[in-house]
Formats: sequence, C-alpha cells, structure tokens
Amino acid sequence: MQDKIRLKNPIVEMDGDEMTRILWKMVKEELLFPYLDLTIDYYDLGIEHRDETDDAVTLEAARAVEKHQVGVKCATITPNAERVKEYNLKREYKSPNGTIRGYLDGTVFRTPILVEKIPPVVRSWKKPITIARHAYGDVYRNAEIRVPGPGTAELVFRSQSGETEVVKIADFEGPGIIQGIHNTDASIRSFAQACFLFGLDRGVDVWFATKDTISKTYDARFKEIFDEEFQAFRDRFAEKGIHYFYTLIDDVVARIMKSEGGLLWACKNYDGDVMSDMVASACGSLAMMTSVLISPRGCYVYEAAHGTVQRHYYRYLKGEKTSTNPMALLFAWTGAIRKRGELDQVPEAVRFADTLERAALTTIDEGIMTGDLAAISPPFPEKQSVDTEAFLAAIKERLDQAL
Ligand code: NAP
Ligand code: MG
Repeated sequence: MQDKIRLKNPIVEMDGDEMTRILWKMVKEELLFPYLDLTIDYYDLGIEHRDETDDAVTLEAARAVEKHQVGVKCATITPNAERVKEYNLKREYKSPNGTIRGYLDGTVFRTPILVEKIPPVVRSWKKPITIARHAYGDVYRNAEIRVPGPGTAELVFRSQSGETEVVKIADFEGPGIIQGIHNTDASIRSFAQACFLFGLDRGVDVWFATKDTISKTYDARFKEIFDEEFQAFRDRFAEKGIHYFYTLIDDVVARIMKSEGGLLWACKNYDGDVMSDMVASACGSLAMMTSVLISPRGCYVYEAAHGTVQRHYYRYLKGEKTSTNPMALLFAWTGAIRKRGELDQVPEAVRFADTLERAALTTIDEGIMTGDLAAISPPFPEKQSVDTEAFLAAIKERLDQAL
C-alpha cells in the first residue's frame, strides 16, 4: 500500500448519535484512516456528552470550526420530551444544527447524490440540483392574530427615534386572520453572499426567484439585495463561465422541470422548505443527499441530510444486522477532506476524495446497495440488497483497485 496522504491542518469532527454514530465509526475505520494521516479536532456531540457539558460542547465545536474552517458532523438527536425520558436528560436541548448555524451565520446547501441505476423521477434531470434555503425569518418568525369580528388591521412600525409609519392591511367586516412577517437586510445579504460563493466554488449557475411582481416591497428587497451583492461576483462568474439568473418563483418551478439540473437554486425560507423535499424525494432518498453549511466567513460544515436512523439503531442494539445507507455520511467526510485539501493545497487529498466517491457510486451502479435503494431502484440482474458492512466492504474493494 502507498504512504498515507497527509493533510496539513485539522478537520473538526463532531460525533453524533444512534445508528449514524455506529456507521460514522465504520466509515472512518474502513475507508478513511487506513489511507489518510488526518489531524482531527474531535468533539463528541452525542446526546450523553451534550448533557454532561450542559450543551457547552456544541458551541465549542462551532468555535473550533470558525478557527479551522472545515468541520464534519454526524447526525445528532434533537431531544423532545420522549428523548429526555429515554436518555434521562437534564433538559430539552436545542438543535445542535441550529446552534452551529446560529454561531457561524451560515446557509445550508443540499445536493442529491445521483447514480445511474436510480434515475430521478424527473426525466430531464441529468445533473444534481442544489437547493439553498434562506434559514431566517418570513413565516418561520411570524406574528399572527385570529380576528374575531369587524374591525381594522394595520401594520405599524415605530422607529427608535420616535417616528411611526402606519399602513392599513384591511377592513374586516367579519372574522378572519392576519399575519406579520419580517426579514433583515443583513440576513438576506449574507444569504446572497453564501449562494454566490457556492456557485463559484462548484462552478454552477445560481438561480434565485421571489414573487416581486406581487410583493413590491418585501420580495423586491430580496431581489435588490441579490443584485447588489452580485456586483462583487460578476467578474469571477464571467471568468468561470457561470451565470446568475433571477426570475419569478412560478417561472422557476416551470423551468426546473425542464432543465437538466447542474445548478444552484436559491430559495426564500418557505420555498426552500418545500422545494428541498420535492428535489430529495424526486432523487430517491435522504440518504442520497449531501448537505453543507457554508458561512460567509469562509467556514464549511459537512453533514448528512438525514437523522440518526433511530429504528435501525434499536434493531442494531438487539444484535441484528441492519442495511443502513452510509452514503450521506461518507460524502460528508469526502466533502470535508476535499475542502481541507483545497485550502491546504494538498491535491492528493482532493483526488482521494474524488476516488472514494467514485468507488461508492460505482458500487451502487454495479448493483450492490443497501435496502433503501434496492427498494426504489428499477430491477436489473446484478442487483442485490446487502447490509451496511458488506456495502462498505464492496466500496473498499473498488477504492483499493482505483488507488
Ligand atoms: P431519520 O433518522 O432521518 O430517519 C427516518 C427514516 O428514514 C428511517 O427510519 C429510515 O426508514 C429512513 N432513513 C433515514 N436515513 C437512512 C439511511 N441512512 N439509511 C436507510 N434508511 C434511512 O429521521 P427521524 O427518525 O425523524 O429522526 C431520528 C432522530 O434524528 C431524531 O432524534 C431527530 O432529532 C434526529 N435528526 C437529526 C438530524 C441532524 O442531525 N441533521 C436531522 C433530522 C433528524 P426505515 O426505518 O423505514 O428504514
Ligand atoms: Mg420541510
């Protein structure tokens, strides 16, 4: 075997929970550590350790990512009342992803992992469509009133210096509903920057859409800020031969169904919530989806788009073999290794990440896959559904051949 590839700077590793914690270890031991000389800055975000540290470890991990720029995160439990009882926790901790995102001020980009043998249900999609969802404000931070009967609804803004602006919403003749939503220039701006950075990083066009023909102040402000921010990217986009394209949300939905993909679709918060599920489902499975948090300060956190796969974990605890799909976790690691390699200028590390991803994709295209994929892919003679260990072993075989 060749010498191990050495990366110069650390990757921040955030360990997680349940089945994904088990898979995480397998992936590292089988497919990464034998080939790479990695410096890891390790944080255990498993629920027990978060509880022991009163969740301080989550913020420590976020700070470490800020310092080293590249992190990789396993799926973690966001506890609800049931989980508090199950794990005997001190309290219902907040979502670690929310804490990390809040600290790094990032945007999450989700891209399906396409394989030949599992064609997207939309026939024209040849290349992956990445969804970037703006993760602040709009209907997710709304204020609502159920109107009991006749009256007048107004929108009021009182500035710090004492001026007041009032706009009439409606005169009610009977019962109804009202909703107030907001966003901030700062948040929209950092979202726009993150989207343009992603486009440059991947060399893909950036599409953005709102309904500014109807929402002439609110949605129009999104469009204006994207236009303003694009000015700083215009030349670099031209050099790369990529484009920024703005249109209306209904137009983009119609166009996306006929596009061949290979682009970034930047979405307002609600659009991103809805459209990311549509794209994921059309491409097969959450286990075939990569997810990366990119902060405008140049930090990257790679993770899987799915949860801890709790039901499989309970079977694993009973000693049963499970056929849990490790693709998203594996691609989180290759994403982090590739980015570390790019930042440290270690091209062998970038090549390793590419080769490992190709080995995994070839494994599936040659018919060896986990149960979730076997269930959705069209039948072909070589197809076999295997457990996680056999799937990882098949990837390793192909990786060794390719190296
Ligand atoms: P989940 O873990 O994503 O699993 C939902 C179902 O999807 C599974 O039961 C399984 O279906 C299928 N599935 C997901 N990933 C799979 C994989 N890699 N291979 C095969 N099948 C897969 O979501 P959940 O059950 O709603 O949540 C479990 C825990 O995860 C929760 O405590 C939640 O807080 C946490 N969570 C964490 C994150 C994160 O850290 N990013 C995200 C979401 C949820 P079958 O059982 O039918 O095989
Ligand atoms: Mg949703």
